[in-house]
Amino acid sequence: MLTKCKLCGNSFKPRAVGTKTEKRFCNTICRKRYNSKDRYNKLKDSKSFKEKRKIYFKKWLNKNREHFNDLVREPNKINRRKKYYEFKKLGVCTSCGRKKERDITLCNKCAEQNNKRSKKRYAEKNK
Ligand SMILES: [Zn+2]
Ligand SMILES: [Zn+2]
Repeated sequence: MLTKCKLCGNSFKPRAVGTKTEKRFCNTICRKRYNSKDRYNKLKDSKSFKEKRKIYFKKWLNKNREHFNDLVREPNKINRRKKYYEFKKLGVCTSCGRKKERDITLCNKCAEQNNKRSKKRYAEKNK
């Protein structure tokens, strides 16, 4: 009978009957990988590790702010576009998804906010 490797799922021949420890991986690479993963999984939930990750991430973010913005900008754009069409089909405000009072794409609240924002932008441009 074949045993399945705990990491990659490949089948392999188990050790002969009577050996002390059961073989759980198809080769040493899988065993080492699994063990380091195991250690990582145990570590990852500890508080100190989380704190360290946070500090590390913040440092990275400060150095790579623009790159990070680029990373999140694209998916955000796509998501927003998706939402927009969904809301439009439902006939609700395309910005917040609430019921709108008039026959425009936005509800009064969002339209007002939009107005304020574009006014501000306009004022900044024409300073
Ligand atoms: Zn394996
Ligand atoms: Zn709205």
